[in-house]
Amino acid sequence: MDSASMPTSPPDDVRTTAPGSRALATEAVHAGRDDLARQGLHAPPIDLSTTYPSYDSRGEAARIDAFAATGADPDGPPVYGRLGNPTVARFETALARLEGTESAVAFASGMAALSAVLLVRGSMGLRHVVAVRPLYGCSDHLLTAGLLGSEVTWTDPAGIADALRPDTGLVMVESPANPTLAELDLRSVAHACGSVPLLADNTFATPVLQRPAEQGARLVLHSATKYLGGHGDVMAGVVACDEEFAGRLRQVRFATGGVLHPLAGYLLLRGLATLPVRVRAASATAAELARRLAADPRVARVHYPRIGGAMVSFEVHGDPHEVIGRVRLITPAVSLGSVDTLIQHPASISHRIVDADDRRGAGVSDRLLRLSVGLEDVEDLWADLDGALGERAEAIPLREALARTE
Ligand SMILES: *Cc1c(COP(=O)(O)O)cnc(C)c1O
Repeated sequence: MDSASMPTSPPDDVRTTAPGSRALATEAVHAGRDDLARQGLHAPPIDLSTTYPSYDSRGEAARIDAFAATGADPDGPPVYGRLGNPTVARFETALARLEGTESAVAFASGMAALSAVLLVRGSMGLRHVVAVRPLYGCSDHLLTAGLLGSEVTWTDPAGIADALRPDTGLVMVESPANPTLAELDLRSVAHACGSVPLLADNTFATPVLQRPAEQGARLVLHSATKYLGGHGDVMAGVVACDEEFAGRLRQVRFATGGVLHPLAGYLLLRGLATLPVRVRAASATAAELARRLAADPRVARVHYPRIGGAMVSFEVHGDPHEVIGRVRLITPAVSLGSVDTLIQHPASISHRIVDADDRRGAGVSDRLLRLSVGLEDVEDLWADLDGALGERAEAIPLREALARTE
């Protein structure tokens, strides 16, 4: 068939492929875009509207009532930008497909997403949270400081069942955890939670390496700022979950305002398209760097997850601040999941806000460095790390220098 005789719309059976029947790499490129071809579009449109005209205010009242009852996305055009946005909805649809959940709700940042979860449970009188350390520094801080009225019990995975109380609204874990890359068995943790929702922060693994909902987590949290966006230019958070919880999250998002900007929604949808390729390529490089670091006498300990991934943490014998000061190709910066490689010192930056004893107790040593491996060539990255680790490279000229002065 030549292009002139192509129908403008594909046949119905092509459009309505059942969710879940396509591979992850295919979903990454197509999910959230299923309607585009029949609209005659290729790239998704960006809808920047903050409000939506309607001559039918009775109908609009009914849609607002329906949203207040269930939090379901209103049928027809959204009423106001805080209720929902079509461009952001494309990203939510796509992420839900990748995580294998019914729905997903996007927020202005990962912390806004976690805040909304705590507010949903707190508003039901379930203020107690059981959590396993380490967590991302600010997640730890939000729970420890009780900023949203929650009360936390820290425990290890084996202690979860005993820590549950009648007012426990949430169990929260990260695996692999930020920054030690400690892993836990999500299936057995979910089992220990009983009927209490388990929130798994899947920022580090991404749905490419792990889909916590398949293992029993009711809530899957992402700092979409990291791998989902993937280029260091979008701040966002998202919770993938069942539609019932998603409705409550949308209601909290509407009332508290932590919405995602439509342009960010567009960039995240674009980021998802390359997520499997980026994560697999960066993971292969990270695994090789982890292997070389583990064999290096300047490195005391290397943490690399069993499930793989693009994060490597390692403890140095020398001064970690010196290593940060010596990188050239690698950027010394907090955050992670970008196309370029970043390194940071968790005790100084990402986990600074956590009390030093709690931090060390969670395995975050003062000599730990966290590397987020990007898409550069492995040899260039190794050359930079080798130079930044210092000593070995410096010891030789120093010895030569001393020999000369003797
Ligand atoms: C960065 C991060 C967060 C917080 O996300 P923001 O987008 O920075 O608000 C939460 N969890 C993990 C594991 C993170 O790395």
